[in-house]
Amino acid sequence: MKPLRLLLLGAPGSGKGTQTSKVLKDFTHIKAISSGDILRQQINAQTNIGKEISRYIKNGSLVPDEIMARLLETELQRRQWLNRDASWLLDGFPRTFTQASILDEVLGKSGANLNQVVELDVDQKVILQRIEARWIHLPSGRVYNLDYNPPKVPFKDDVTGEPLSKRSDDNAETFQKRLDIYNGEIGPLRDYYKQKNIFHTISGNSSDIIYPQLSRYLSEKFAS
Ligand code: AMP
Repeated sequence: MKPLRLLLLGAPGSGKGTQTSKVLKDFTHIKAISSGDILRQQINAQTNIGKEISRYIKNGSLVPDEIMARLLETELQRRQWLNRDASWLLDGFPRTFTQASILDEVLGKSGANLNQVVELDVDQKVILQRIEARWIHLPSGRVYNLDYNPPKVPFKDDVTGEPLSKRSDDNAETFQKRLDIYNGEIGPLRDYYKQKNIFHTISGNSSDIIYPQLSRYLSEKFAS
């Protein structure tokens, strides 16, 4: 089986977290890192970095590239993913052209560059409608939506029974800003990965439409 080093791109609220959970369930040898989860865990643990970054997240701005790159490189090393045999998925990093270049440099040293980039293409009007109903389980990053993917027990995580939280940046005003930033950054990223011939788009307005396509695509890529 070919190792898969996948980047999942998509607007905030496009369902990257939900798709990641599904991938991890079906492709058990894949591991995942979500940059947003790592940042929220730093904030929750009140580390020095957590204190430094919380204002960016709260107001919907991007955390500076150097901080992000440092955090991600540390995490990749800690998990021993910087080798050619590991299969993994990145959710939310890189998000800017600069981050993409830094990541390439880090991965290139071990000959383990990204070999797939998938962008989830979801109508942004649909995203805006559903975002206020999103709740998360902070320690695991599991995502729920009160309208169409509610927890079994209200406001409790299905697996641990721990309380769910509302993200401070999931409100209409901050969310629009995050979408605007995404729309501003994604063009150069798309072009960068298209040039490398590893870019693929999957369109749909719900995870039930997107996931079967993603799953089929990954199965084909693993087999080839
Ligand atoms: P997410 O959970 O992916 O929606 O990320 C939540 C917030 O974390 C974003 O709005 C940014 O403030 C910050 N963030 C996550 N990933 C990155 C990244 N790669 N670069 C900069 N900021 C990030």
